Amino acid sequence: MPEKISMSAAGVLKVPAEPIIPFIEGDGTGVDIWPAAKAVLDAAAAKHGHAVAWKEVLAGEKAFKETGEWLPEETVEAFRDYLIGIKGPLTTPIGGGIRSLNVALRQMLDLYVCLRPVRWFQGVPSPVRHPEKVDMVIFRENTEDVYAGLEVQEGTEDARRLIEFLRDNFGWELRPDSGVGIKPVSITGSKRLVRAAIEYAVQKKRRSVTIVHKGNIQKFTEGAFRTWGYEVVRDEFSDVAVGWDDCGGKPGGRLLVKDAIADITLQQVLTRPDEFDVIATTNLNGDYLSDALAAQVGGIGIAPGGNINYVTGHGIFEATHGTAPKYAGQDKVNPGSLLLSGVLMYEHLGWQEAADDIVRALEQTIADKIVTYDFARLMEGAKEVRCSEFAEAIVERL
Ligand code: NAP
Repeated sequence: MPEKISMSAAGVLKVPAEPIIPFIEGDGTGVDIWPAAKAVLDAAAAKHGHAVAWKEVLAGEKAFKETGEWLPEETVEAFRDYLIGIKGPLTTPIGGGIRSLNVALRQMLDLYVCLRPVRWFQGVPSPVRHPEKVDMVIFRENTEDVYAGLEVQEGTEDARRLIEFLRDNFGWELRPDSGVGIKPVSITGSKRLVRAAIEYAVQKKRRSVTIVHKGNIQKFTEGAFRTWGYEVVRDEFSDVAVGWDDCGGKPGGRLLVKDAIADITLQQVLTRPDEFDVIATTNLNGDYLSDALAAQVGGIGIAPGGNINYVTGHGIFEATHGTAPKYAGQDKVNPGSLLLSGVLMYEHLGWQEAADDIVRALEQTIADKIVTYDFARLMEGAKEVRCSEFAEAIVERL
C-alpha cells in the first residue's frame, strides 16, 4: 500500500515498502528523460522487492498552462508533505517575479546541501587521461553566499543609499557607479553543511573531507567557514574524525578533514584528483567546482544532483542540466542525469542494492557502446540510440 516517507524522532528517514514520491516531469526534454529514467528506476526497484508510488506534481510551463502559476502552492506542499521528491529540468520564467523555480524550491524547503557526486563511468568520453581517478562527492552550501540574492543594481536609489551608508558608517569608499552584492556566511549555515559532509563521509567510509574556501582573501566569510568547519570536527566528531592540524595529516583510523584554497583546488582536482574525496564548500565555489569536475569526467550531460535538508528529511533530486528546448520531444537526449539523480535518491532512501544495480547496468550499456547522441558523437564505433532505447538497454542489463 502506498505510504508517506516520514522522519523518526531520532532524525532517521522511515521509508515504507511502497513510498509515495512526488515528481515533476520537467519542461523541454523532461517529456523524454522522465519516462526513460522512471522505467529504469521502476525495474531496479522491482528487482529488489521495492516499488514507488509516483505522484505527479506540476511546476514550470506545464503548471503555468494548467494553473496560471509557475510553482503552485500545491506542489510545494507535496514536497513538504512527502519529504522526498525528484524533478526534471525547469524553464526559468523570464521577468516572472521568481528568479528561478529551482532556487525557489530550495529556499522554501531550506534544502541546505547541494549534493553532487562526480565519478567517471567506464567508456564515457572524457577530456583527461585518467578520468577514473575522479571519484568525489561535493557538498555545496545551498542557501547563503552571493546566492542569497542580496544585490542592488547600479544607478538605483537603493544602490545610492547603500553606498552612502557604507561610506558614512564603515568608511568604505565604493565607486558611485557600482552595483553592490552582499555575501552572508553564517555559523549555522556553515556548520550544518560541514556536519552533513562528515556524517556522509563516515557513513560511506570515505577517506577524507576537504573544506574548500577562499579564506586567504575573504577572511570573515570564507575563512570563517573553514574555522567553523574544523570546530565541527573537534566538537562533534572527535571519535571518528580529525582535522589536519590536530594530527599532522596522519589521522590513524579516523576520517581526515583538511582544507584547501578554492583556486588551488581547481588546479589540483585536475592534476591530482585522487587526493580529493568528499568536498565541503561554500555556494559559489561549489557551483564552479561541480561543473568543472563534471566536465572532467565527460559527465556534463549525466551529472546527478540532490538538494537535501538532513534535519527535516526533505530532499529533491534533480537533473543538473537545463531543458534543452531544441531537443524537446525528440526522444533524443541522454536521460543519465535524471536517472543518476534517481540513483542518488535510492541511496538516500537506503535502497543501495537497487542503486548499485542501475549504475552497473548503465556502465555495461556504455561499455557496450550503446549511447545517446551526445556520447555517440565523441566515441568511435558507438551505436547511437534514442533516449527511450537507451533506457531499454539499461533495463535489459539490470
Ligand atoms: P541546457 O538546457 O542544459 O542545454 C545546453 C546544452 O547542453 C544542450 O544544447 C545540449 O548540448 C546539452 N544537454 C542538455 N541536456 C542534455 C541531455 N539530457 N543530454 C545530452 N545533452 C544535453 O542549457 P540552456 O540551453 O542554457 O537552458 C535551457 C533552459 O533550461 C533555460 O530556461 C534555463 O533556465 C533552464 N535551466 C534549468 C536548469 C534546471 O532546471 N536545473 C538548469 C539549467 C538551465 P548540445 O547542443 O551540444 O547537444
